[in-house]
Amino acid sequence: MLKIGILAVQGDFAEHKLMLTNLDIDAVEIRLPEQLEDIDGLIIPGGESTTIAQLLNIFDIKNSIITKAKSGMPIWGTCAGMIMLANSLTDKRPTPLKLMNTVVSRNAFGRQIDSFEENIEIKAIGHPKYRGIFIRAPMFIQIGEGVEVLGKLNDDNPVLVREKNLLASSFHPELTPDTRIHEYFIKMVKNQISNDNN
Ligand code: GLN
Repeated sequence: MLKIGILAVQGDFAEHKLMLTNLDIDAVEIRLPEQLEDIDGLIIPGGESTTIAQLLNIFDIKNSIITKAKSGMPIWGTCAGMIMLANSLTDKRPTPLKLMNTVVSRNAFGRQIDSFEENIEIKAIGHPKYRGIFIRAPMFIQIGEGVEVLGKLNDDNPVLVREKNLLASSFHPELTPDTRIHEYFIKMVKNQISNDNN
């Protein structure tokens, strides 16, 4: 059975876990570096990126995540998770993991009160459009070479991007009943497993 970990130091990891469990995936909470050895893919959830970054240091798991990402493990960051995956931020804090060729700006759509929902066209998952929930969402300021835009807002702002084994979304698919982006990530994990076996 496919096993996907959800980084569970802070944020809405429980919602991702429920979503994956409902899709018949063995979903496990990850807090310790050695737990990464046992999973086929990892989700970094939404939450507060400064807190997540601090806790990654305290739990001493940061470098192990970087190593796993570089060895091809599929990793999906949602919202704060997307901030963590970035190469650099326009903000002073936190220091991201520098895994994706992206520059990200935190809270760039405004404050909590400016949170919004919008239907996004995502070819990779088909119709109908995906209802994206944006909560103090980060914005991609720069998308570098090798990063594919899978979904953008009506104003052309990219909100779902992929770079090889890494996926990042500025919205929260775990807060909707629509499982299609989780299914897309599960496919990434399955493909990686079959690549590893070849
Ligand atoms: N604004 C948060 C941050 O900067 C992210 C918000 C979220 O994950 N919903 O970390």
